[in-house]
Amino acid sequence: MPTSTKDIIQELKRVKLEAQKDLSRAEDQASLQRLKGKYLGRQGILTELLRAMGTFPPSERPIIGRTINLLKEEITQEINTRWETLKRRRHEKELYAEKLDLTLPGRRPLLGHTHPLTQVLEEIVDIFTGLGFQIADGPEVELDYYNFEALNIPKDHPARDMQDTFYISDDMVLRTHTSPVQIRTMEKQRPPLRIIAPGKAYRCDADINHSPMFHQVEGLMVDRDVTFADLKGTIAIFIQQMFSKDTRLRFRPSFFPFTEPSAEVDIQCVICKGIGCRVCSQTGWLEILGSGMVDPAVYSFVNYDPEEFTGFAFGLGIERIAMLKYGIDDIRLFFENDLRFLSQF
Ligand SMILES: [Zn+2]
Repeated sequence: MPTSTKDIIQELKRVKLEAQKDLSRAEDQASLQRLKGKYLGRQGILTELLRAMGTFPPSERPIIGRTINLLKEEITQEINTRWETLKRRRHEKELYAEKLDLTLPGRRPLLGHTHPLTQVLEEIVDIFTGLGFQIADGPEVELDYYNFEALNIPKDHPARDMQDTFYISDDMVLRTHTSPVQIRTMEKQRPPLRIIAPGKAYRCDADINHSPMFHQVEGLMVDRDVTFADLKGTIAIFIQQMFSKDTRLRFRPSFFPFTEPSAEVDIQCVICKGIGCRVCSQTGWLEILGSGMVDPAVYSFVNYDPEEFTGFAFGLGIERIAMLKYGIDDIRLFFENDLRFLSQF
């Protein structure tokens, strides 16, 4: 401890220099806090010197006290200044790290597109509207009358199997096909009639080829002198435009309650080109739609004269067409909303 006033003033000068050196080396808040303790704290250098002042003659104490207090203020001030400097430097460093590089390539927003089923549907609609067909629409929750009865499917018909139909009530169902739109349209309009009715249909069925909700397009043409040849020509044009010009097709006799005669339409397997593969069960052919001449019994429900008018109807599954067109082997992929699948189309 200094023993004379001269010594203590000397000591204070030394402390001041030491403090300045210490502060210039402090790089963070923790070291500043430490320095504050070292010089100004209860055990600090300046506090110790103030205590030692008591050993000095009373006449000299004021000047020593003032000098110590002045240095305390100076050091406090310098600690604050240093703190501000450190803060500013850190901020500048952050700004530098964040600075924008305008030469970097931009980030494109992810663009969506229509669902593959919508794309196929739009293509189907384009082809048929090109042939003069108009779009018709009907309810998905349908009366039993339109879904079954007026399509010549009476109460005891096997097509009404409880396994397949979602019943809302005894006389109301989720439509099992888009065919009821035929009846609703014929009720409102007189021939000539050329419509397609795209939309959702529902059946209690689920596996890799069936979904409880699926999409169909119903087609109907009624006029004077419409023949099976018109049906064949219309379907052939559709298949060739949908797949390719050289796609072969065949009509295979079948049965539907609302058409007579009825025919299933097969196309040559798009995978093996007719040679035979797993997809076509080695037959070389793929079932693609059902069709036929409108059964005269159906006309009686809508007051058309079967002697005056004839017509054809057909129904196809949009999922089925899309699966064949794109080689998709599981119908559920359409409804899982997996972007890795959807972004391929
Ligand atoms: Zn095949």
